[in-house]
This record gives sequence, structure tokens and C-alpha cells, in this order.
Amino acid sequence: MMVMSEIVRILKSSKKVLIVTHISPDGDGIGSTLALLHGLNKLGIEGDIVIDDDVPGDFRFLPKSDKILKYSPEIENHYDAAVAIDCSDEGRMGRAEELYSKVPVKINVDHHISNTMYADYNVVDSNSGACAELVYQLIKLLGVEFDNRIATCLYCSLATDTGRFMYGNTTSITHEVAADLLNNGADLRKISEEIFEKKTLSQVLLICEALKTLRVVEDGSIAYIVVTKAMLEKCGAKPSDTEGLVYYPRCIDGVEIGLLFKEEDGRIKVSFRSKALDVSKVAAVFGGGGHVLASGCFVEAPMEEAIERVVRACADAIKGGR
Ligand code: 5GP
Ligand code: MN
Repeated sequence: MMVMSEIVRILKSSKKVLIVTHISPDGDGIGSTLALLHGLNKLGIEGDIVIDDDVPGDFRFLPKSDKILKYSPEIENHYDAAVAIDCSDEGRMGRAEELYSKVPVKINVDHHISNTMYADYNVVDSNSGACAELVYQLIKLLGVEFDNRIATCLYCSLATDTGRFMYGNTTSITHEVAADLLNNGADLRKISEEIFEKKTLSQVLLICEALKTLRVVEDGSIAYIVVTKAMLEKCGAKPSDTEGLVYYPRCIDGVEIGLLFKEEDGRIKVSFRSKALDVSKVAAVFGGGGHVLASGCFVEAPMEEAIERVVRACADAIKGGR
């Protein structure tokens, strides 16, 4: 990819690089940004990862995750280049976009089909299981030698975004990259323990509460669950503790689209998960986006109205798809 070699040239001639990822950051966003930071630092290039959100507890074991900066207007903007990772559009960066947009050279590394190609240099490949596959290539082209820290960060990204190598976005390339990362010391045991095998009591209580709200509608083709602020408070859970809950409505036999509706500062965050239908298009109706089988959006409406509108759009998409 020509654009990759341009990006390598830009990064190598930079003194300090801004790295951003999306709000409600996930394993791919955190792992890929950290891997790039490690890679740049090994070349003597400074970098700041800035996220307009907290780092979820599950990922705090990753090396240098304590260096991630939470967005604040006080952060001095003295970057030569900026790299956005796992952001399909600038809006996904939240307020980190204020920093990103003012950096002279902007780079976009992403794997969302809905990416808007907003940067000066765009590396977007919707066939990649995770951004980690693209960052892996980038680090290689930078001439950085892989070590166990880079490998662990990238493996965390791959394992989370592919649902532990289970979703349809998992390819032979994903496995080849994963194999190379294991050869370079990726700490598989730690990743499994910290991310997949450990839940806080609050997280388990929230699963119980959320499952009580399960509804199956439209002749069994759509199922959804709801998480309100009151439920989070009752369980002592954090907003990021809803990660993974949308698995339950989707996994039901016969369900084509599973949904999670989450109350968030006066608006409703919707997560879409599908078995075949392109839900990135349904999310786009509400100004969101994502992947074919996993997407999201925000709806500015009370909960009941958001549910009604989104379920109707999903039902229309199911009927249209037949
Ligand atoms: P989740 O439901 O786990 O938050 O997100 C699923 C996928 O949809 C992720 O790839 C995420 O980046 C994307 N996504 C979630 N919310 C939004 C949104 O509001 N806008 C866009 N463009 N993508 C979203
Ligand atoms: Mn991703």
C-alpha cells in the first residue's frame, strides 16, 4: 500500500505524534493505540494517546495504559502528526477531535465499512478483523522489532474485536498475525484472565438486571435488552460494564438482529448485532455506523421512543432483505 509508506515517512520525521481512538474505547482501540505508541517510542519518537473517555478496567493491565491521557482542553497541541485508530468518522473521537483537527498532518487507520475517509492519509480496510492487523503492518514497515509488550497489545485487539477468533471478520491473515504475535511473546494467559475470564460482581449483577428486560419482538426476529442509569447505579456498575451484553439478545435462535439500548446523558446509545443483515446501514439511518454485523448509534429521544424507532427500522431492514 503506497499510503502506508507515506505514513511511515511522516511518522519517522515527526518528533511528537498524537494518537486517538473512539469514545467508549474497546480492546481494539486501546490495544492498537498502545502498540503504536510502543513502536514509536522504540524509534525515539514521542507520542500521546488522548481519549475522551476513561480506559475500561479490563485493559489497565496493558503496558503503558497508565500513560493514556483523558481529554482535557488544557492538553497542549504540539504534535507534528496525528493518527486516529478505529474511528469511522471524526465524531467518534468525541472532544479529542478538537486536538486531532488542528494537527498539521492527519492519518486515519480503520477497518469500518462506514469510514468517511476524513484524513490526509487514510488506511481503511474493512476486510481486517481488527485495526490491529493494520497497525501490525505499520509497525513492521516502521522497522520496529516486535517485543512482548507490542505483541500483547496487538493480540488483545485481535482477540476482542474478533470475539476470540470466532466472528466472520476472522481471516487467515488474522490467524497469521496472531501466530506471529504469540511468537513474539504475546501474553495469552494474562489477556484471557484479565479480559475474558474475570468479571466484577457489579458486572455479573448487571447481566442479571439486563436480562430481566429482554424482549423478543417481530415474530422472533428482533430481540433487545435495556440498561438504564438506575440499573447501573443499583449494580454499582460503570457505563463500560455493558460491554458484551448485546451478545444475549443476538444469540437467541431465530433472532436476526439483537439490540442493546443504553441510557447515556439524556440520549440513548444503541448497539446493533446481526447474524447476516447489514446493520451498519440501519445504524446510519440514525447518524451512526460501524461494521456489517456490529454497529451503533445514538438516538436523541426518550427510551420508549428510541426503542420504537430503532425496532421499526430493523423490522423494515429485515423485510427489505428478504
Ligand atoms: P458497540 O455497539 O460495541 O458500541 O459498537 C459496535 C460497532 O459499531 C463498533 O465497531 C463501533 O465502532 C461502531 N459504533 C458504535 N457506535 C457508533 C456510533 O455512534 N457511530 C458510528 N459511526 N459507529 C458506531
Ligand atoms: Mn475495531
